[in-house]
Amino acid sequence: MRLFTASLATESNSFSPIPTDRRSFEECVYFRPGEHPDRPTHSTASLWVARNRAAQEGFELIEGSCFWAEPSAPVVQADYESMRDEILAQLEAALPVDGVLLGLHGAMLAQGCDDCEGELIERVRELVGPAAVIGVAFDPHCHLTEKRVRNANVIILFKEYPHTDFVERAEELVSLVTRTIRGEIHPVMSLYDCRMDDLFPTTREPARSFVAKMKVHEARPEMLSVSLAHGFTQGDVADQGVRVLVVTDDAKAKGDALALELGDEVRARRGTWRPPHCSIDEAIDLAYAAEAGPVVVADPSDNAGGGAASDNTNVLRRLLERGCGDAAIGPFWDPFAVAICHTKEIGSTFPLRFGGKASAASGAPVDAEVTLIGLKRDGWQSFGTAKVSFGDAAGIRIATAGGSVDVTLISNRTQALGTEIFSDVGIDLASKRYIGVKSTHHFHAAYAPIASEVIYCDGLGPSPLDSRLYPYRKISRPHWPHDELPPGRFLV
Ligand SMILES: [Zn+2]
Repeated sequence: MRLFTASLATESNSFSPIPTDRRSFEECVYFRPGEHPDRPTHSTASLWVARNRAAQEGFELIEGSCFWAEPSAPVVQADYESMRDEILAQLEAALPVDGVLLGLHGAMLAQGCDDCEGELIERVRELVGPAAVIGVAFDPHCHLTEKRVRNANVIILFKEYPHTDFVERAEELVSLVTRTIRGEIHPVMSLYDCRMDDLFPTTREPARSFVAKMKVHEARPEMLSVSLAHGFTQGDVADQGVRVLVVTDDAKAKGDALALELGDEVRARRGTWRPPHCSIDEAIDLAYAAEAGPVVVADPSDNAGGGAASDNTNVLRRLLERGCGDAAIGPFWDPFAVAICHTKEIGSTFPLRFGGKASAASGAPVDAEVTLIGLKRDGWQSFGTAKVSFGDAAGIRIATAGGSVDVTLISNRTQALGTEIFSDVGIDLASKRYIGVKSTHHFHAAYAPIASEVIYCDGLGPSPLDSRLYPYRKISRPHWPHDELPPGRFLV
């Protein structure tokens, strides 16, 4: 048995001011064949799992290139094509193969293509022929199009948000693909479009129980896999939205029935899946009224993980104006300010302008007398078993009427995933009352354990929390909450 594997992944924000080209991938993740390290990343877990299983189970694995870029604007078309064609050429050279494993994100757009993953899977199918088995891993924040489902044999999405289960799902994908090649199972997929958008953090109800329910269904006879595609509201494409995918062992009618049942539950509970969000001032009031600290306050409106610049200054400005003390906030993406800090002595005080640069939605920059409290070269933060770079970084302290606010500045744009993004630049999180993180929900894995409480505020940054505020041109209407909820529909 011969399997080929490769990865091409990013999450494209149609409204992001940050450009994405081939270099954006090469600066984040670019492993050529044989270069993949002996640890999984979020989008390459299938490769890592298959590499470990190949030796145990006696199959041959041919590794192709792996690309991942931090979310930002749609990819330069020629660069997308160069990465796609690099992988396809490697696959062609590896033929014949019995199967292909693709680690994709599923919300990648190019300037001239709204369904990069659908096109890639379709071209893989053309190369390998109808008999080969194609297995795909997606992030749940994907646009799960009909083209992808019709050209693949098995698709599995991460179930958890934060996506801490990427290795578990890769284990399942490799198992289903190899069992299919051996003729033990015959996967058939059902895809149901809920025709709505929402947000599904699985650390809280009702999404926590929904994940448990999907797993109970997976234990039933003939059920191979159940996934919920959350969709990605910052992508302006016709196929944006929430979808349910069920993979059965040659039992399409049962798969359709389950997809309909789960999809209708998602639809009936629309609007209740997302956590409540308060205003910037309400969040500050709640944090300082809490009996104990630290209170972690997330600002999803400036989440680099969704393509925002992560340099919006609205929340920090209110912390400073209100004279808050024992506060920390970040990360602010500002390579220029980081470079300035790296020329200074730790403990020195100097005037610094930072933040508020990428676009009008970043707000005005902050000008402050800052004290340098820490420096880091080539910093890395933890996300489960994965490591994510935040580049060179600096910790600065701004004195306020109530004490001080510590700020972490980074040079590789990323959201707050691990606590290293603060601790590596001299910021002691345990001593804080208020910890502000720029992240929608991935922060939760590392920050909830150190928080007395987690709250979410709308920092009025570039990614509105209310999807009705985006200037969409392409999403398929009617679609809730932009319209009355239309009837759900089967796509496959
Ligand atoms: Zn995601």
